[in-house]
Amino acid sequence: MSIGREPEETDLAATGEPQEWFHALAAARARQTFGKSVFVRGVVEVSNFCRENCRYCGMRRDHRDLGRYRADADELAELLVHHRPSSLTDINIQSGEDPVAARDVVLPLVRTLRRETTLGISVCLGTLSSSLTRDLLEAGASVNIIKFEIADAARYDAMEAPGTLAERTGEIRRLAAEGWRVSSGFIAGLPGQTAADALANLRLAASLPLSGCSVSPFIPGDETPLSGAESGTLDLTLNCMAAMRLMRPDWVIPAVSALNLAGPGTGYRRGLRTGANLCTINLTPERVRNDYLLYKRDRFIMNEQRILEAIASEGLEVSRASLADHLADKRGEPVLA
Ligand code: SF4
Repeated sequence: MSIGREPEETDLAATGEPQEWFHALAAARARQTFGKSVFVRGVVEVSNFCRENCRYCGMRRDHRDLGRYRADADELAELLVHHRPSSLTDINIQSGEDPVAARDVVLPLVRTLRRETTLGISVCLGTLSSSLTRDLLEAGASVNIIKFEIADAARYDAMEAPGTLAERTGEIRRLAAEGWRVSSGFIAGLPGQTAADALANLRLAASLPLSGCSVSPFIPGDETPLSGAESGTLDLTLNCMAAMRLMRPDWVIPAVSALNLAGPGTGYRRGLRTGANLCTINLTPERVRNDYLLYKRDRFIMNEQRILEAIASEGLEVSRASLADHLADKRGEPVLA
């Protein structure tokens, strides 16, 4: 692990010229570590059933009007084995916290992808039993994304995030010990969040056994208890990303698509200009996208063309190595042929 500069509260409030300088420093640090390479992965959402009730999320279980679905493993396998965009090296399989989908859809899909492709496989499925995470790891997934979202335990409880903060960070440690490369994430600009809270997010991330971490701006969902709240700002989100890049130069830090919601037209590219080194192409089949609230804002879906244009416009290049191989290589483990 490469340890860099400790973040400071003033970093997170930077604007104007000092902010430009700060972001350029973070981008330079990313280039020093990764060259011009940016990892490109695809994401498929396999289920929007969720047993959790996070106040900031439109998939929470109390949102009873949402049409729920689970994808078909064979249909997704056909898409990913035979019709995936050529630029992607990894796939992230994502869902609400739905152990049924994890067992019946994700596990067979991971087995098929491992048999038929050399794609790196990440999962983002919430907290699952250790027998299920072990099965997923044995089947060929290697990166587990489990976000802590909020570093303050009382605020975590108030937002009805999954379990307790201690359980969530315990799960991150358990997964890392089980052999996963773990990535986490947190939200910038949740209602009531102070600069000290934002800094605490970075410090908690630094204390965990992570290979990467995301920062997502808070975007109030229409169908959530926070629907009337202000969005998180692009400035705060990018300042957190820059501070994180300088804090952990070797972490994989994604440019999340919500950057375009916080900063229409420019947000995503500014993420790449602030030290992000991972882009995600959305591959969720169109007919189920309407059940994902975010997709009602169709123009913000990051398809292959938009991702490749953003990467090229910033003078960057698509990595030929997969994220999974990069992380395996760092641990001295064999990479896939
Ligand atoms: S953030 Fe995740 S765990 Fe929480 S309600 Fe949404 S899908 Fe479920």
